Amino acid sequence: MKVDWLIVGAGFTGAVLAERIASQLNQKVLLVDKRNHIGGNAHDYYDEHGVLVHQYGPHIFHTHMKTVWDYLSQFTQWHPYAHHVLAVIDGQQVPLPFNFNTLYQLFPAAYAKSLEQQLLDTFGFGEKTPILKLREQSSGDLKFLADYIYENVFHRYTKKQWNLTPEELGKGVTGRVPIYLSRDNRYFQDPYQGLPQHGYTALFQRLLAHPNIRLLLNTDYHDIAREIECQGLVYTGCIDTFFSYRHGALPYRSLDFKFFHQQGNKQSVATVNYPNDFDYTRITEFKHMTGQRHHGTTWVEEYPQAYQRGKNDPYYPIPQEKHRQLYKKYLADAQLIENKVLFAGRLGDYQYYNMDQAVARALHLFDKQINAIKNSAK
Ligand code: FAD
Ligand code: UDP
Repeated sequence: MKVDWLIVGAGFTGAVLAERIASQLNQKVLLVDKRNHIGGNAHDYYDEHGVLVHQYGPHIFHTHMKTVWDYLSQFTQWHPYAHHVLAVIDGQQVPLPFNFNTLYQLFPAAYAKSLEQQLLDTFGFGEKTPILKLREQSSGDLKFLADYIYENVFHRYTKKQWNLTPEELGKGVTGRVPIYLSRDNRYFQDPYQGLPQHGYTALFQRLLAHPNIRLLLNTDYHDIAREIECQGLVYTGCIDTFFSYRHGALPYRSLDFKFFHQQGNKQSVATVNYPNDFDYTRITEFKHMTGQRHHGTTWVEEYPQAYQRGKNDPYYPIPQEKHRQLYKKYLADAQLIENKVLFAGRLGDYQYYNMDQAVARALHLFDKQINAIKNSAK
């Protein structure tokens, strides 16, 4: 078969590139995914009870990039939603990111006030301080507080999630949930936040509705590669798989998702984190996020696991320096063939991208490489 472009992976990265190439270059795209659905890890569906659920765990769209928000807004309206997370600490459910409300809930008022003042004097109002930075405090009350937050919020959760300590990972990992010197309980502070009004799958259906796009599901690229003739290939699967693991396998972290349903409601907010108990990290009840009205409710528990090729899915690249070095060997290989194959996405770039970052990367790749090459060839 002959096509202009073959794109591997129908997640945000692959779908956005397919849409851009189809609509802006008027070229034919074959989009393949080995799964039986579009949307990649953002895929959602109505379960057997009629509740809209996210198959691969809670996905909340949030971004500071107006370009990304405006681009996606061509394909969906938004259900306005700001994510709220509670963490179970010392038997209480307290707001996360750790902020002044959390402080006052966990400590007697006079002591909380003193800690609040010391935090303000040291860092300033509105600052976001990663736990590993707060832990640089070497003495006094702030050292006590840093150790308390580290032990109760981060240490055991991170061991569960990654089987590593916060120090063994890139600082950016626990830095995603910094101590927030404010009274703002929202998990994200981005100016644009929400969920696609009719779900992610509906958004992807609209992205891919262009007549120049042909979709092939249940199809692994490696099984059809020889049969397709194309002028360009975009690959959003694991970069080490593409190169047959020639430098060794890159490690990933996986999850097992367990879904449950009951009548009524389960919890007071969308997500409750369990840093200190159970084998799962968090429970997410979808109705709170989607705004769906339903007499029943469905929630998901996330159980972190080692990634085992062929047995489960590679959800997270593992942000450690030694893996970055290994990835750089694959990147060098990729650069040698970049006039034929472009790598992108969480797995193709081996980067802990959020959805907006995956979309931004795809838009940038289109503008700077695909469209630019096309224009220079004119
Ligand atoms: P993916 O969505 O992983 O898509 C890649 C696709 O490629 C997959 O469908 C896969 O089947 C396919 N593929 C791979 N190899 C092949 C092959 N050989 N042949 C054919 N097809 C192949 N981001 C947020 O912004 N907010 C959140 O709240 C959020 N929550 C998350 C929660 C969890 C539990 C996880 C795991 C991720 C979360 N993310 C969140 C991140 C988000 O899922 C990613 O940013 C996004 O999915 C990246 O899109 P992608 O297209 O790069 O990759
Ligand atoms: N984290 C933690 N305790 C929490 C929440 C987060 O230790 O209650 C750490 C943990 O290492 C986690 C990281 O912060 O992997 C990033 O959290 P986030 O909620 O962004 O994770 P994701 O949604 O990407 O799984």
